[in-house]
Amino acid sequence: MTEKYAILGHPISHSLSPYLQQAAFDEMKLNCSYQAVDTSPQLLPELLTQMRQGQWSGFNVTLPLKRQVLPLLDELTLSAQNAGAVNTIYKKQNRLVGANTDILAIEDILNNQRLDPSNRCLLIGAGGAARAALVVLVNRGHQVTILNRTASNALFMVSETNSEDRADVATFAHPNIPALAKASRLIVNATTIGMHGGPEPNRSPISQEAFNSEHLVFDMVYSPEVTPMLHHALKAGSDTIGGLEMLVGQGAYSFKLWTGLEAPKVTMERAVREAIGIG
Ligand code: NAP
Repeated sequence: MTEKYAILGHPISHSLSPYLQQAAFDEMKLNCSYQAVDTSPQLLPELLTQMRQGQWSGFNVTLPLKRQVLPLLDELTLSAQNAGAVNTIYKKQNRLVGANTDILAIEDILNNQRLDPSNRCLLIGAGGAARAALVVLVNRGHQVTILNRTASNALFMVSETNSEDRADVATFAHPNIPALAKASRLIVNATTIGMHGGPEPNRSPISQEAFNSEHLVFDMVYSPEVTPMLHHALKAGSDTIGGLEMLVGQGAYSFKLWTGLEAPKVTMERAVREAIGIG
């Protein structure tokens, strides 16, 4: 019998996870299907009941359900507890376990870089992706400046992750953002600025003068592959990391939690590139 998997959220039609995961299942010759299910908060408990009954083998969870799902699960992994958010649900015996593979993917990405805990970081954004990055950065011992449009959202994120000792907050009204950037070795964009189809696709969250050749610049936006921010960073001679690596990394961890197998990352990346037309 075909094992069924899905990503739950709303809106969901834009999700790349069906391409990513179906390609992996097919490559590994697993009899599994993966679909996007438009899910309201009201429908979520019913889908989890269906998973308990064996109709579903696993779920990814995205906006706006990543936090709402927490009280409906039997167990949370450390990554999900730290993030206060779940993006993957798998079964252990008959228990539903929530994990956060965004955190695991970000950890891998940063572990592969020459970063010392003494390096300051500038984290731009205060939504779900920024929260995952903040948890990882603080766990690694970094001091973080959070730059966000809405100060209250950033302050809330800091207090919810107990990061007060390690994080301070600024907004885009700060008089000298290039100085904040200069004090940092790592710059992370976790806003939708620069995202194809987002509110400001043609803009970088910070200006060209903020970047230099000492920086490591990580843009979580994966479409386009070279975002306006990465364009600035490359021009300044910074090292760069694009969002595709995280997208594939988090999907690969979900795949492993469901199947126990190492995910075919090259196949997954190829499928995503085809889906978003960046070959
Ligand atoms: P989210 O929870 O909705 O957060 C959105 C963030 O963007 C907030 O900080 C928000 O600031 C800011 N923002 C939105 N519109 C803005 C504007 N016009 N000007 C300035 N700031 C603006 O979204 P998310 O889930 O964290 O995702 C954020 C980005 O990360 C998206 O581009 C997403 O595609 C990407 N992402 C990538 C991966 C990956 O695997 N590569 C994984 C997750 C997310 P306010 O607080 O002021 O509203």
